[in-house]
Amino acid sequence: MHIVAKKIEIKGLVQGVGFRPFVYRLAVEHNLKGTVENNNRGVFIHLEGNDEQLKKFISALPKRIPEAASITVMDNFPVKVEHFRDFSIINSRSVSDEITEVSPDIGVCHACLDDMKTQPHRINYPFINCTNCGPRFTIIKDLPYDRRQTTMTVFEMCDTCRKEYSDILDRRFHAQPIACNHCGPWYTLHEKGKTEENLEKIIGEACRLLEAGKIIAIKGLGGYHLACNPFDEKTVSTLRLRKSREGKPFALMVKDFETAKEYLLINPEEEKLLTGWRKPVVLLKIKKEFAPSISIGLNTVGAMLPYMPFHHLLFEKLKLPALVLTSGNLSDEPIVIDNTTALKKLGAVTEAVITYNRDIHNRTDDSVAFVANKKERVIRRSRSYAPSPIQLNFDAEGIFAAGAELVNCFCIGKGNQAIMSQHIGDLKNMETLEFYKESIQRHERLFRFRSQLAAMDMHPDYLSTNYVRQLDIPAVAIQHHHAHIASCMAENGISEKVIGISFDGTGYGTDGNIWGGEFMVCDYLDFDRKAHFEYIPQPGGDAVTKHPWRMMTAYLVHYFGENVLNEQTELFKNIDQKELEIVLFMLKNKINSPLTSSAGRLFDAVSALLGICRDTTYHAEAPMRLEAAAEAGLQGFYPFEITQNIISMKPAFEMMINELNNGESPGTISAKFHRTISEVIVDTVKRISHETGIRDVALSGGTFQNRIILEQAERQLASAGFDVYSHAHIPSNDGGIALGQLAIAAKKREVGEFFKR
Ligand code: ZN
Ligand code: ZN
Ligand code: FE
Repeated sequence: MHIVAKKIEIKGLVQGVGFRPFVYRLAVEHNLKGTVENNNRGVFIHLEGNDEQLKKFISALPKRIPEAASITVMDNFPVKVEHFRDFSIINSRSVSDEITEVSPDIGVCHACLDDMKTQPHRINYPFINCTNCGPRFTIIKDLPYDRRQTTMTVFEMCDTCRKEYSDILDRRFHAQPIACNHCGPWYTLHEKGKTEENLEKIIGEACRLLEAGKIIAIKGLGGYHLACNPFDEKTVSTLRLRKSREGKPFALMVKDFETAKEYLLINPEEEKLLTGWRKPVVLLKIKKEFAPSISIGLNTVGAMLPYMPFHHLLFEKLKLPALVLTSGNLSDEPIVIDNTTALKKLGAVTEAVITYNRDIHNRTDDSVAFVANKKERVIRRSRSYAPSPIQLNFDAEGIFAAGAELVNCFCIGKGNQAIMSQHIGDLKNMETLEFYKESIQRHERLFRFRSQLAAMDMHPDYLSTNYVRQLDIPAVAIQHHHAHIASCMAENGISEKVIGISFDGTGYGTDGNIWGGEFMVCDYLDFDRKAHFEYIPQPGGDAVTKHPWRMMTAYLVHYFGENVLNEQTELFKNIDQKELEIVLFMLKNKINSPLTSSAGRLFDAVSALLGICRDTTYHAEAPMRLEAAAEAGLQGFYPFEITQNIISMKPAFEMMINELNNGESPGTISAKFHRTISEVIVDTVKRISHETGIRDVALSGGTFQNRIILEQAERQLASAGFDVYSHAHIPSNDGGIALGQLAIAAKKREVGEFFKR
């Protein structure tokens, strides 16, 4: 037999997902000899055998990779035959190799769901997992990823599990959280001072309570959930009261994909996202109604499919096709992860609490994503995404980026990789700030990270900025919108100058005003603010975000003078007279009315103007409802003026008011307003490009979570011949800003800028 040898190089998500044991089994199956090894560039395979078998192996490999793995590049080339006698896995040698091995959590795989019905020691076992699936980041305390470094360490493997764990041909070879009905963790139901540990009874009682309209708490993978019937308005509104969550939409878990199709409109890309191994909450259009207060004023709802064995077991028995499954916390606190707190805090607002006795070490919320222009867009990056690294084409070792303040994530640099933290939340909440600090410490330990340089927002009062100030290392303050664009550049691997469009709610500007509707020409090192929305006073400062009508008043008075109150009485009809007078007084006397160029505030004003949302109960409610109201398929847009790089929306407001007075529907006006914003974008980009010759455009900032704006801007810019870059795997909102901060600091260090506090 003629022996040939080949080397195969594979790049992509191939580490920490059971890839090497998979390659081993495939090689043995094909009767091939050689080795497989990990290094920081990917997986390398040395194969020896007859030509026919080698070919078969190479064609079978991509088709049979583990669910959570993905291949971006696979090359093979002939090498010298070394006459291996068997096939073996070579261990990762350097520390940096180990680091890439922290895999995110992986939803339970199909093979395990089958095993749950057939393997005698795992019948209905709710913690079943294998090398291809199960908890990872949430249970890891330290590296290397080994059972004793996870919260599974307290469970002693039984003989059966140990045999599987040690058998390289078994799917559970080196599956660190391996467990079964005899040796692993178990669930406990706590109800009215009594406990129940029989799983069948727990599921039975959970179904009874949920079907009867009760609220229960269930321990998830990265934290607790609160669950209830999403079709029962009384139950859903009770949940709102008990959780002190007035209007923010609730996420759902739907039984399976078939059921999801009945209730939601799902396109092929959304299907891929929904059914993939990460199981994020996907924002989808509603087809069949749920209880009205699930997502008030919106035409979408966030839905996910079961991702823990327990979820599958629950839906097997439950008579409801879906559940509200919202984060188990009160108000804005971080989600509860430990059992004692759950029993105390969540126990007080629920009928029963279902716990289990494996600890969650790293808290992760459910991730949230949507699809725009056929691409996945992550807007909350947490469970099953963190801590997957982002590849950079520059060195970021030792850089800590603190992030912003709302929807905070921080970021650390390890060599040519950026590791974004899981979603942390709003740092103004005391418990969340604690979680921030704790998570930083845990990332330092887990990734052997020592910060040498810190990057922070320019905002003097951000708590993340405060945190950096007390570190004893050099720090660089970075303008918020520059960081947004840099984040988009880093995600897309571009380093040439771009025209950056950074639209969001708020960010500290270099002139001390509030920015948020910015066009800048920038690279990592510097930015040049080329154009922005006209400054409008923001009466009451941050408080306006709760009262979009205030922003409407500010816009109208700014453009048309105080007379507008007498001329357009209809617009001010339902506004409290006293409050209106206070706002007018603030505007007139320039009291507590910082100037803003924010796109978010512009959307607030229009949402209020159209009577869609005048007061809010959660962040970005007014723009979200404005987007939901927009009627699809309409053409036309409103005029606007650009003088000396200041974009004035005065003509647009004139026409919107006219149309409103002529009885035009808010849905039509909203659609035209959205088109107006994309026209502003394209028009301004063309001007800047004409002046600078730049053809690359980067879109970032929370406003690009608006699907209409994102899709229109991308399409129109592309058809005008620009190369358009936007976010996909990193949030465009402030949850993605740390990546930009990190990139800017890295590049500044590269050119030898040194920072002193
Ligand atoms: Zn599995
Ligand atoms: Zn066992
Ligand atoms: Fe922002």
